[in-house]
Amino acid sequence: MSRILIIEDEESIAELERDYLELSGFEVEMEPDGARGLTRALREEYDLLILDLMLPGVDGFEICRQVRAEKNVPILMVSAKKEDIDKIRGLGMGADDYITKPFSPSELVARVKAHLARYERLVTAAAPENETIEVRGLKIDKTARRVWVNGEEKQLTTKEFDLLCFLAQNPNRVFTKDELFENIWGMESVGDIATVTVHIKKIREKIEINTSKPQYIETIWGVGYRFRV
Ligand code: CA
Repeated sequence: MSRILIIEDEESIAELERDYLELSGFEVEMEPDGARGLTRALREEYDLLILDLMLPGVDGFEICRQVRAEKNVPILMVSAKKEDIDKIRGLGMGADDYITKPFSPSELVARVKAHLARYERLVTAAAPENETIEVRGLKIDKTARRVWVNGEEKQLTTKEFDLLCFLAQNPNRVFTKDELFENIWGMESVGDIATVTVHIKKIREKIEINTSKPQYIETIWGVGYRFRV
């Protein structure tokens, strides 16, 4: 449920806004004081702010400026004076919308919904997708650390996954066993390069159809291994 903070010192207006927004299914909080409103807007996570311009303590200009410096939350500014709206528009305060009092509550709700929908799209678009590598039926999800072969998930150990991922991220490049050991296990690790051979064998058993004719990790005799794409 979207959470909205109304910073408004006129109680009757704040309550009217709250009632209509709650009827539309929003969770609404009210704050009559500018300074406290600013603190709440900065510290807490709201989906949208409805901000009155003239407030005791800190005014709407300053709240808008400080919140915008830190957050992308949609800000809808409300003012009794048309001239003030024109002024803040001209100042480029970073508010997303402006409404002049008196306004119809249904118009306010419509605008709130439009801004929330737009913000939702923005946030969704910005969220990073899982990074995946896909080669001929092999799918490696680097973020979730999962591996599938032709849609069937395979269970790899941590080091098997690291090794496969390292090779797949550097395709068509030949790595010696020493290089692989150094990259995956680190110089100071206990063990030796035979570990690499053992792990490659285990990975092949899990991802190759025919381990004697590997199609993903190739052995380059006398040199090392290469992930083929
Ligand atoms: Ca006011």
